[in-house]
Amino acid sequence: MVVLGIGCHPDDLEIGCGGTLAKYAKGGHKVFMCHIANGNLGHAVIEPAELRQIRAREAENAAAALGAESLSIDVGDAMVEASGKEVRARVTEVIRYTGADVIITHNSFDYMRDHEQASALACDASFTATLPHLVTKSPSTANFPPVFFMDTLAGINFIPTEYVDISGEIEKKLEAVSCHESQVVWLREHDNIDFLDFVRTCNKYRGLQSNCAYAEGFRQYTAWPRLRAERLLP
Ligand SMILES: [Zn+2]
Repeated sequence: MVVLGIGCHPDDLEIGCGGTLAKYAKGGHKVFMCHIANGNLGHAVIEPAELRQIRAREAENAAAALGAESLSIDVGDAMVEASGKEVRARVTEVIRYTGADVIITHNSFDYMRDHEQASALACDASFTATLPHLVTKSPSTANFPPVFFMDTLAGINFIPTEYVDISGEIEKKLEAVSCHESQVVWLREHDNIDFLDFVRTCNKYRGLQSNCAYAEGFRQYTAWPRLRAERLLP
């Protein structure tokens, strides 16, 4: 299978489903990680133009740690709009180019607007990718890829319906999160937040709910014709 994560910022997929993506890759599946926003406003000291470049490198390193390939839509932070024709065409092209069999994205409700808009874009583009007269570089796809929503930040207002045991991938996941040094170091030094511990705690809690050491939780986008009878998560 080809698995496509569509996240908002360069570190969101690592946080929400990095263990699951690593497990897919370990199972021989091709994994792409696409971030829509370039993360250029995610720091209080580093200027946006420089931060954009730093975060692109961090995303590539994190994807490599998980066995995935990094892709970017390169929209500025706080500028992600699901109604934007151009950005929707670019997300559509990513789905076509990758030939995604499964998509993982944000939940439709999360703690900030860009995440929610990214979720809507992924869902919309999973449909528009099939429309031949919506022309992008790659040809339209024949199938409607199923879409899964990953956990919200800190799991707030999110009740998973499916779990993935990532006990064997938790350290690799944390390694990928720590590749986002501009974020992890900043949070530790200036906000006194141990973000790696934050992520580990969330996955331990999901593990507690699903009888394993560490887990990631998901919900499926239940819209025709994206549903399948078989389990698609690893
Ligand atoms: Zn984010």
